[in-house]
Amino acid sequence: MDLTTPLTYVKGIGPARAAMLKAKGLVTVEDLLGYYPFRYEDRSNMKTIAHLAPGEMATVVAEVRSAKLSGFRRRNLGLFEARFSDSSRAILACKWFHGGYLANVLAEGMKVALYGKVEFDSYSGELTILHPEFEILSGDDDDAEASLHVGRIVPIYEAVAKLTTRVLRVLTHRILEGLEPLEDNLPADLRRRLKLPELWPSVRETHFPPPDADLRLLNNFRSAGQFRLIFEEFFWLECGVALKRAKARALPGIAFEINDRIREKVKAMLPFKPTGAQKRVIKEIADDMKEPHPMNRMLQGDVGSGKTIVAAEAAVIAIENGYQVAVLAPTEILATQHYLYFRQILSKLGYVVVLLTGSFTSREKAQLKKLVAEGLAPVAIGTHALLEKDVEFHRLGLAIIDEQHRFGVLQRLGLVQKAVHPDVLVMTATPIPRTLAMTLYGDLDVSVIDELPPGRKPIVTRHATADRIEQVYSFMKRQIDEGRQAYVVYPVIEESETQAMKAAEKMYEHLSREVFPTIPVGLMHGRLSAEEKEDAMRQFKEGRIQILVSTTVIEVGVDVPNASVMVIEQAERFGLAQLHQLRGRVGRGAAQSYCLLVTEKMNDTARERIRTLVESTDGFYISEMDLKLRGPGEFFGTKQSGLPSLRVANVLRDHDILEIARREAVDFIARPPSPEDLKRAVAYIRDHWQRRYGLVTVG
Ligand code: ADP
Ligand code: MG
Repeated sequence: MDLTTPLTYVKGIGPARAAMLKAKGLVTVEDLLGYYPFRYEDRSNMKTIAHLAPGEMATVVAEVRSAKLSGFRRRNLGLFEARFSDSSRAILACKWFHGGYLANVLAEGMKVALYGKVEFDSYSGELTILHPEFEILSGDDDDAEASLHVGRIVPIYEAVAKLTTRVLRVLTHRILEGLEPLEDNLPADLRRRLKLPELWPSVRETHFPPPDADLRLLNNFRSAGQFRLIFEEFFWLECGVALKRAKARALPGIAFEINDRIREKVKAMLPFKPTGAQKRVIKEIADDMKEPHPMNRMLQGDVGSGKTIVAAEAAVIAIENGYQVAVLAPTEILATQHYLYFRQILSKLGYVVVLLTGSFTSREKAQLKKLVAEGLAPVAIGTHALLEKDVEFHRLGLAIIDEQHRFGVLQRLGLVQKAVHPDVLVMTATPIPRTLAMTLYGDLDVSVIDELPPGRKPIVTRHATADRIEQVYSFMKRQIDEGRQAYVVYPVIEESETQAMKAAEKMYEHLSREVFPTIPVGLMHGRLSAEEKEDAMRQFKEGRIQILVSTTVIEVGVDVPNASVMVIEQAERFGLAQLHQLRGRVGRGAAQSYCLLVTEKMNDTARERIRTLVESTDGFYISEMDLKLRGPGEFFGTKQSGLPSLRVANVLRDHDILEIARREAVDFIARPPSPEDLKRAVAYIRDHWQRRYGLVTVG
């Protein structure tokens, strides 16, 4: 047996079990070996029932004395009750609601390990555990294997379909017995310096901890062995990222020149004084643009922090060097916004800016494409339409990609391949922890704007239930009377823009006719033509419309400083990041701004989201909460993110280890102990980790 052996060769895994394992992605011995316990129980020194105390979490091994479906209205509740006793002769009563299925599982005389919170039932005067986790100990295992389940610190695995923790424990044990000790591939001096234990004992002891292991450390995933496995997983990942980055860095690119003439141009374009943070990041970007290699940089900054103007500065540098600039946005609204913004500030310098989106006619498109192909338009702004095969640039030098998390990575490459390695600047308002960003976006450098433009007042956020909508409206009315403007936003229900549009249309009728008959109200949704959208935006910008009713198409990028009220209907349906983005549409001017979250029905996580938003306007905090509430998979989006599938490591829980691993990996690749060490590492990553980490496609 070796790591590549199919699991069907392991004793006890027939076709049925193999199929269940395969459905979870577990096919080889290596896969199951990498399926680590998520929890451990100390069954080495268990208490007897007589010694249990109410309130404690305890494991007990006891025998079933009686087991039955019972109680009043038993059919409805399906209350299953079992009574257990052990050598102390005391009784422990356990109960399961909806436990009907247990009638075929637990029977008198069975030996069972039970785990749960002990309580004292004052009604019956008995010690009880409600819904204990349990494991039947008498079974069909060999005698030698029976000792795996009691009398030691026991690993608890997440069940795989019908394979219980107990079955997985036995199978894993068989694999560990059948394998030769694994070769340790971590560089030896690194292991020595960080005092990491060797691979084989780490693997063994993470599955079956030795008697003297510390249960608390194990359950926090910080035993020496667990630390090593987590570190290793991150280390090779980060080595892969560093290698990839080094390769990208070595490509030939454009060395933009920056001289006084160009500096003067940039200054002439700026409509205001940049903040300290903006100055710092533009310097980082400009320094990178000067290098004769392609720039791959991410510009991070909270909603409203002023990323666009920084991008415009970079654009001026490229254009003054005789190159074209592409600006890519995820939605038509945002592309239109950027178009209006860039056109306004860049027209001062006499540059032609064109917009290219899906809703132009093919004749219009053909004309615009010609302008771009002949180099007459130095700036082309657009949506996916800009990525179409027949869009050709005369001399593309800089690609600016907004809200990168909405674009597939491959699409980004599509744009980049339109020229010989142009510089790339991606902008995002999702402020994820820096190390995580560098890991996820692999070859990107990160610049952060961590300061808001001056004079911003924090947005006041309030929660209102739908029955208080009248108060919300009268608040809007007062703000509008003071000269302000307001947004009212509706969620896209079940991914249907059509339905959201209908809801918005209905509300538009209601608000404009009944609630605010004297106030000009506008409507915005995804089904409008580009022209209609632009028109609605312009009217709102110029103050001819005072209330804009909209679907979430305005989520990103819309910038109307005089708007001071954001009303979000059915706010419970939105995600945290989305709510934060929407809220960011106000608070862009000097006036105090407000965000009113109107909710109908809420569950616990929705309540948590609303609470987070009312409490904080800090995008970084909100992003971390979002990550926590949703988990990394959903947060980053499974397909687009390039988030590698990790086995032991968890980017949230193990953030500290990720930091260390990253530092060590960068150092190792830059200054390997010897050329052979580097060669060996590269081969090892290629053979063992590349595919799993998706390193071929990351970034
Ligand atoms: P985001 O980072 O969300 O893309 P924007 O670039 O849209 O932010 O900027 C938000 C608003 O702040 C815009 O109205 C912009 O003109 C303004 N702004 C940006 N930087 C400054 C600054 N240094 N001083 C004053 N206003 C600024
Ligand atoms: Mg923006």
